[in-house]
Amino acid sequence: MINSMLANPLLSLDYEPALELLGDDYYDRVAAAQFPAHILRFRNDELLPLLDLDPKTVSDADFIEAFGKFQGIRPFLALRYHGYQFGEYNPALGDGRGFLYGQVRGVDGELYDFGTKGSGTTPYSRGGDGRLTLKGGVREVIAAEALHRLGVRTSRCLSLVETGESLWRGDEPSPTRSSVMVRFSRSHIRFGTFERLHYFKRKDLIATLLDHVIESYYPHLANQSDRYVLFYAELVRRVAELVAQWMSAGFCHAVLNTDNMSITGESFDYGPYAFIPAYNLRFTAAYFDYSGLYSYGNQPTICRQNLEMLQRPLELVLSSRDLESGLSPFWDYYQTAYRQRMLGKLGFDEIEIPAANELLNLTIQILQETEISYHGFFAELAQQFDHTWREDVGNIFSQATTSDDALVTLWNQWKVLYFNLLLSLPEEEMEQIQARLYQHNPATVPVRPLIEAAWKSIAEEDNWSDFYTLIDQIRARYGSPKSSMSET
Ligand code: AMP
Ligand code: MG
Repeated sequence: MINSMLANPLLSLDYEPALELLGDDYYDRVAAAQFPAHILRFRNDELLPLLDLDPKTVSDADFIEAFGKFQGIRPFLALRYHGYQFGEYNPALGDGRGFLYGQVRGVDGELYDFGTKGSGTTPYSRGGDGRLTLKGGVREVIAAEALHRLGVRTSRCLSLVETGESLWRGDEPSPTRSSVMVRFSRSHIRFGTFERLHYFKRKDLIATLLDHVIESYYPHLANQSDRYVLFYAELVRRVAELVAQWMSAGFCHAVLNTDNMSITGESFDYGPYAFIPAYNLRFTAAYFDYSGLYSYGNQPTICRQNLEMLQRPLELVLSSRDLESGLSPFWDYYQTAYRQRMLGKLGFDEIEIPAANELLNLTIQILQETEISYHGFFAELAQQFDHTWREDVGNIFSQATTSDDALVTLWNQWKVLYFNLLLSLPEEEMEQIQARLYQHNPATVPVRPLIEAAWKSIAEEDNWSDFYTLIDQIRARYGSPKSSMSET
């Protein structure tokens, strides 16, 4: 047993007890559940090089031992936090079905968390079973891989192990299968972690945690005398950029409670999310979001509000004037990042000519009015673009037809704008436009019907090949051979 553990590369990583060393005001030590079965369904070999591991040296049994059976001597820390859920303060939160499994430094020098989801009950389970449904695990794997491909700063899933239990859920046909996931992220410290410390009026703990956050995730600020001010200002910028990434990626997170907002400005925790089928600001992804609070179009406003709410705990260590001035550029950051991302999806780098804004606005107008597939439009653009588009406006989307007169007019305007932009750039730029279109617009984005189809094969036939194919398609880059998905 000891020999096999030493030989397991996942258990012999250099785990850094960064958060553990802060003391037990921030977490509870918990145990992992014992599961009746362990079937490895997904291992993310793309992440192993970041841990300085060669995928060939890590077996499926190693994954199961470390991330299904949770063997080893590491403490498991259920993190304490509160949060605003749909606007209501909830002081009864905390890791109710997960724990911080360990922290490691990537070869890029950054500190990463291994955090579990579905690993058993904790003092914060509030009567819940501490489990993750297999479908929930599959959906989170898919979301993270797709967002990563779309250039969103996101957590990833390191592994998904099916665990052989039957779970009962109101929002899935039940009984339903169980799983445990290990998430790989830049920190599980949330806005709600600070909100909890504010609730208990622990200014001392806020300062200690803030120092830890800055040292670990904002190290370039660590030696500045006004590092708290600079930290908040940078967090505002990171969150504004993140929400611009979601919006351009056509992603609706669906549960933007403050316990789901990372203090590093990274996107994580994918529950009832959806990639929008068509551009519609009122699109909501969670069936329980009756008022549309967390609709696709509301995400920038909500993220700004969450940043504003975070000022309450931070006011214990910072002046409200500094916090206000940190927040004030939010909309500028957001607009700049959104514009840049959308221009990228249209093939262009930052171009400061009015025609670029006109093209952007018209693109959105057309997407909204036609209700055509948001992701399909950009994938088509990437696939159909060619150098002859610069020679004759008639070559642009030459196959597309519509019988709606109003739309014909809009489309023609769009083509002329696109053509003129191409003409304004030197011919050599065409290669870069194609490269940008390919980079920003994957051929496959997992809108719900694609996820449901992959899940149906699993649920009805225990056939996993559609899921692996979907992951391959999500990760695919144009012109590159099919990526090799590890069969598990
Ligand atoms: P989430 O919706 O996954 O962000 O979870 C919100 C809160 O509910 C967190 O505190 C979770 O730990 C907790 N939670 C969600 N599902 C369960 C469950 N099945 N058992 C125990 N706690 C849960
Ligand atoms: Mg959560």
